Amino acid sequence: MTLDTAAAETAQPALLDADELAARIASGHRITEAEALAVLATPDFATLPLVGAAGTLRRQHFGNTVKVNYLVNLKSGLCPEDCTYCSQRLGSKAEILKYTWLKPDEAVAQAGYGIAGGASRVCMVASGKGPTDRDVDRVATMVEQLKGEHPQVEVCACLGILKDGQAARLKDAGADAYNHNLNTSESLYPEICTSHSYQDRVDTVQQAQSAGLSSCSGLIVGLGETPEQLVEAVFALRELGSESIPVNFLMPFDGTPMEGTWLLTPLACLRILALVRLACPDKELRIAGGREMHLRSLQSTALEVANSIFLGDYLTSEGQGAAKDLDMIADAGFVVLGQEASSPADVARRLREAAHAAAAHEEQAPAGGCASGCGTGCGPSASADAPGCGSAAAGCGPSAAREPVLRRRGAGTQQGPNA
Ligand code: SF4
Repeated sequence: MTLDTAAAETAQPALLDADELAARIASGHRITEAEALAVLATPDFATLPLVGAAGTLRRQHFGNTVKVNYLVNLKSGLCPEDCTYCSQRLGSKAEILKYTWLKPDEAVAQAGYGIAGGASRVCMVASGKGPTDRDVDRVATMVEQLKGEHPQVEVCACLGILKDGQAARLKDAGADAYNHNLNTSESLYPEICTSHSYQDRVDTVQQAQSAGLSSCSGLIVGLGETPEQLVEAVFALRELGSESIPVNFLMPFDGTPMEGTWLLTPLACLRILALVRLACPDKELRIAGGREMHLRSLQSTALEVANSIFLGDYLTSEGQGAAKDLDMIADAGFVVLGQEASSPADVARRLREAAHAAAAHEEQAPAGGCASGCGTGCGPSASADAPGCGSAAAGCGPSAAREPVLRRRGAGTQQGPNA
């Protein structure tokens, strides 16, 4: 070794001892800002060991269960707010589905598809700055009907910024939780939205908590935040006591200000998720919108730290096939929360059936692609339903797509949902 190389080697920052950090956190330590920044600075080659270390906390609190959540978009588009990342924003040119409130029967029917797919929480979402009292009454009716038909299922409402008394109305109707994401740090917030404030968001989360609703509040990452801002946002969620933390990965819709913004790698996504787990070891951590295109082939690896996913489609874009989601959970040795009694034999049988269905699907498909006739040249897949052509045809999805695929099925359409 020359002096030069010795100097270079000693100049390298010491690698984080992720196992030691996770063990201290398991004993009650709260991760510090310096440690959090070191987690985000973990080199690629040390990221899977980091995930393994953070995963010990996941298994301590959640075992090998994965909570499955299902979104119902009650009202889509036409929002007067200007959130830069959102395809439903004022002035968005994204050709998303736009519709006003679903009828209660339709909302409950849509939720039923997700419940049949294994969802133990239904998230009822509406675009807009916040609801009127009449809107809250409308959603309360849906919640009551859904709870009447599926009393075991948790219902989370996501209606925007709440006014006095609205959280209590939802709670009285039977809602279990309220979602309102902080999305990013207070210091970055003015750059991603000017029509409402970061404090508005904090206030709504606290109103929901005061009414006895479980708080669901999380992030969108990949907006251009610095590591320091990401740590700021994660620590704010920790201070807020968010019980459920969805982490969305920016889907840069064409026709929005964030079009063409691709700042994440799959390993960077894993480091972010590991940080959230280390900062909030006993909280539900959900890999949310954009997981397919950002985590890509590492989605199941992310389940080592995250214990929750959305099944199927998102609000305005398509997710990978719901059957593929469930296979991914089983393939990686996890079980759907509430279905822990499913034996490995049942899982193996379901996977075999999926393989048979895939073979039948491919026999019907034109050479080199799926049966949808979308003409994009996708290839056959090992899965029952994931050729990845991005078509809205039944069974296709954006599993390999780089760009968001606009939703054309499920709520607000005549097509069956992805569930
Ligand atoms: S995030 Fe919500 S408030 Fe912001 S533009 Fe989208 S729908 Fe409107």
